[in-house]
This record gives sequence, structure tokens and C-alpha cells, in this order.
Amino acid sequence: MRIDLHTHSTCSDGTDTPRELMLAAEGAGLAVVALSDHDTDAGWEEASAAVGETGVALVRAAEVTSSLHGGSHHILSYLHDPARLAPLLEDNRTLRPRRARAMVEALAADFPITWEAVLAQAGDPDTIGRPHMADALIAAGVYPDRTAAFAGAMSKGSRYYVHIEAPTPRMVVEAIVAAGGVAVLAHPFMSGRTAPLTDEEITELRDVGLFGIEADHRDHSPSERVRARALANLLGLAVTGSSDYHGAGKPNRLGEGLTEPEVLERIEAAGHLDVIRP
Ligand code: AMP
Ligand code: FE
Ligand code: FE
Ligand code: ZN
Repeated sequence: MRIDLHTHSTCSDGTDTPRELMLAAEGAGLAVVALSDHDTDAGWEEASAAVGETGVALVRAAEVTSSLHGGSHHILSYLHDPARLAPLLEDNRTLRPRRARAMVEALAADFPITWEAVLAQAGDPDTIGRPHMADALIAAGVYPDRTAAFAGAMSKGSRYYVHIEAPTPRMVVEAIVAAGGVAVLAHPFMSGRTAPLTDEEITELRDVGLFGIEADHRDHSPSERVRARALANLLGLAVTGSSDYHGAGKPNRLGEGLTEPEVLERIEAAGHLDVIRP
């Protein structure tokens, strides 16, 4: 049974609509897919409606932005009660346009880019991020694709980069747990991170209810996957794998990282919502 627990749609920075994502999941031979847009549940309804048509089961999820010591940390929330997590997600969505405006202002001094052009690339201005700025630069002929843009002006080290000052990982895990969700640390060990979480910080997250760590992810090298599994074993945390599919926006392909059925069973047992099955 192929289970991919981390994907994005046009409701954040993916390029497939939620329905297109479900069709792509069927095409990739997935039995279960989680839709985990950045800081929003907006794609759940459309994806749910495609479960019957595609025969792919849906895990309703979100990837919540947090930050600590100037580093950005993504925390997956599975099967939470949307009403109870809404205040946190809404707060995060107010941070994004403000930060994007600051970046676009700086970019406009050197590149043919405007706020309107970036908005035109984003489905919802509240989930706007660097991928949409990248798309505006691509449309203006500055870069051929997002990969090139992220190697250039969209990189963390670039002079145009503005950090998103979001709630701490601890606050986010606590909010997810309080909302009946299951919290999993997304790709924590990818190299090149600013201020990566320490083992002690991850232990603290375990102590406030973190459920698991994403290990099998494209941005983790073989040794980083080993490290993720070892730490999960040490702390009694579950291990997940996923593609982090963004449609045409990234090379990541559906099903390239997978999660064990037994882990999904535990996520469903702990989560407030059920998995939607065909
Ligand atoms: P932001 O949250 O606005 O800082 O943007 C981060 C997002 O950029 C992540 O969610 C990734 O999906 C995306 N991203 C990061 N690196 C790349 C890359 N090399 N190519 C395409 N998208 C990327
Ligand atoms: Fe993304
Ligand atoms: Fe992420
Ligand atoms: Zn993601």
C-alpha cells in the first residue's frame, strides 16, 4: 500500500489544483495521499470530493510554519479539527503577504517585478511565498524555472530574503495537539538550514506531544535519513516518508517517499478526523 503524507496544491505553492492532485495521486498508484498545503485547509473540500472519482484515500493535513532563532521550521498537522486550528493558521496567513511585500520591494530595485505580478501568480494572497515570487521572475524572463530562482534571488542567503517570524515550533506543536491533530516535524535535517533544531529542542517537542519525524524526504541525504530514524527511535517517535510534491514547481514526484501503513493507522487513531476513503 503506497502512502504519501505530504503534498501541496494551488491552495498554497503547488501547481495542481486539489482535484488535479488527486488525479495525479491515482496515476502514481497511491492508495493514500495527504494534502498538506502551507498554513491552510482551503483545499480539503475539493480534494475530498475527488476521493470517490480517483479511489485514492485522503488524509486532511496542513504544513504549519514556525520559526526559532531565525530559522524556519515546518510542522505537519494531520487530521486536526479545522475550527480549533484556524486561529493559528489565520495568524500565519497574515504574516505571509507582509513579508512578501518587503521582499518584492527589495527585488523591484534590481528586477522587473511588481506586487501585482506576484499576486497574479498566487491563488490566495494569504499563502503567498517565495515560489510565487519565483514564478513572477520566471514570467518576466529572469529565470527558467523555480529551481534556478531558488539558486539565485530566492535563496535564503540572498540580499532580498526576508525571514517569516512565525510562532515557535513548541507553540505550533501545542496548538496542533490541542486541535486534535497529529504533529510531525517536516524534513528537519535538510542541509543548508539556518539554525536547525537541536536534538534537545526536538526532545522538548516530543515532551509537548510531537508524534513523529519525517525521515524519507528528498531533501534528506542518506546520512540525514539515518540520523532522523535514530533520533526517532531514541525519543519514541514515529517515522514518516513523503514526496512533498508541488506539481510542476519542484522535481519531487508523488510516491518518491512513503509512510508505513502501521504508522498511518496510529496517526488515524490519534487524530480528530478520519481518513476519507473511497
Ligand atoms: P517561503 O515559505 O515563502 O520562505 O518559501 C518556502 C517554500 O519554497 C517551500 O515551501 C518550498 O516549497 C519552496 N522551495 C524551497 N526551495 C525550493 C526549490 N529549490 N525549488 C522550488 N521550490 C522551493
Ligand atoms: Fe512549499
Ligand atoms: Fe516544508
Ligand atoms: Zn511541503
